[in-house]
Amino acid sequence: MATAETLTGQKLKNYINGEWVESKRTQYEDVYNPATKEIIARVPISTVEDVEHAAEVAKAAFEKWKGVPVQKRARVLFNYHQLLTEHKDELARLITIENGKSLSEAQGEVLRGIENVEFAAGAPSLMMGDSLSTIATDIEATNYRYPIGVVGGIAPFNFPMMVPCWMFPMAIAVGNAFILKPSEKTPLLTKKLAELFKEAGLPDGVFNIVYGAHDVVNGILDHPEIKAISFVGSKPVGEYVYKRGSENLKRVQALAGAKNHVIVLNDADVEEAVTNIIGSAFGSAGERCMACSVVTVEEGIADKFLAELTKQTKNIKMGNGLDDGVFLGPVIREENQKRTIGYIEKGIEEGAALVCDGRDRVSDDGFFVGPTIFDHVTTDMTIWKDEIFAPVLSIIRVKNLKEAVETTNKSEFANGSCIFTSNASSIRYFRENIDAGMLGINLGVPAPMAFFPFSGWKSSFFGTLHANGKDSVDFYTRKKVVTARYKSPSFE
Ligand code: NAD
Repeated sequence: MATAETLTGQKLKNYINGEWVESKRTQYEDVYNPATKEIIARVPISTVEDVEHAAEVAKAAFEKWKGVPVQKRARVLFNYHQLLTEHKDELARLITIENGKSLSEAQGEVLRGIENVEFAAGAPSLMMGDSLSTIATDIEATNYRYPIGVVGGIAPFNFPMMVPCWMFPMAIAVGNAFILKPSEKTPLLTKKLAELFKEAGLPDGVFNIVYGAHDVVNGILDHPEIKAISFVGSKPVGEYVYKRGSENLKRVQALAGAKNHVIVLNDADVEEAVTNIIGSAFGSAGERCMACSVVTVEEGIADKFLAELTKQTKNIKMGNGLDDGVFLGPVIREENQKRTIGYIEKGIEEGAALVCDGRDRVSDDGFFVGPTIFDHVTTDMTIWKDEIFAPVLSIIRVKNLKEAVETTNKSEFANGSCIFTSNASSIRYFRENIDAGMLGINLGVPAPMAFFPFSGWKSSFFGTLHANGKDSVDFYTRKKVVTARYKSPSFE
């Protein structure tokens, strides 16, 4: 079982052609346990040459893998599912150690990742095409799906398992080869993902990992043999990846930053709303692309809501996510801790009312910042506009549902949005008028399961086909439509 002790100091290697190989560069970056500040590994900041090596290997592996019957490919996914399930506790501990989220959050993440493997194992049905027996006299048409080649995946630090699992299981199940660049801040989990995939029977070279930062990303974006790119990360990098990848004529899906708004109406169950909002805003230290960062509350219930919110927030247990009962872990790095404190100062400077001050619970043991709540926030304030990606929650008070929706729609982001109400008409109005791709009704984190698309809008997504669901099958395949004439036999 992984412990911080057993991890200390390990020097990671890239995973190319089923082997662990040293990067061509000697530059390494420290990987921290954010709850203790211990260095748990050193990750190579690999080069474009490392990407070229991986692409060459992946291209050769693709030529064989694409010809393996889809049900045989799916069987490797079934084995993988079994192994991931058997190792789920070890995987969850690794996530907590390198990311800082609580063990129960990490366990949830592992299950969400495994669900993606489960969905991808359905490739034989998912890859089926369509056909029409008669489109003209004696003529039929059939549509077949094929893999596209080598696919590159670029992942963020906040879900070291789930986000890569949005990408490579489906890409590989439908016949592609894959090169993953995990976040350099959370590289350890993917090492285990690769080892287990090999043990599941995946041929060498079909799944590869190149660790690093910008150079690896640029290597992936520019390599002519990499035909498609799945990116998940912040808005500026997502925009850059989408533009440069598209410029190089690749398929790109770039899932980007977020600022998720939750509306609480006068007829909501306040206690239930608060419990869900706390889970959403402060769970995983607010480092979730579906985290609630703004509550837009109707004036009639605002004081009652805030009183309950403050009461429950004060009871939040902070600490190392491996410890029992800990709900709120650290943010990922010292610079994120400082950035969060900077936003708290900015909120005060711009006139918001600080109700809970996370600076009171900053600790030097790790990169901790306490849960923070601002009331009387307005849409011109920086804390309302920017993605803070930390446990900082803004409250904005409005007259009614119409104003709540109009206010929310001013955000440049549109990943998820939720409403707490007991009125069906309000729910329908919200659903029809809100700008967001993933909606929650009386719940705090409306993250869709593997078989639905993860469908952000506006600056939360660049591209056409989203991750997961049928979108992912379309993204990772291309089609051939065959039109055929079979003259009717003559029986004269
Ligand atoms: P990030 O954008 O800093 O990094 C993402 C990836 O891009 C990493 O692998 C990183 O090494 C690479 N990268 C970073 N800067 C780069 C640059 N200048 N040039 C090339 N590559 C670069 O994101 P992060 O901090 O790791 O993750 C948090 C962000 O991810 C948040 O904005 C969050 O909302 C977003 N996110 C979005 C979703 C979604 O579904 N929309 C899901 C998870 C996370």
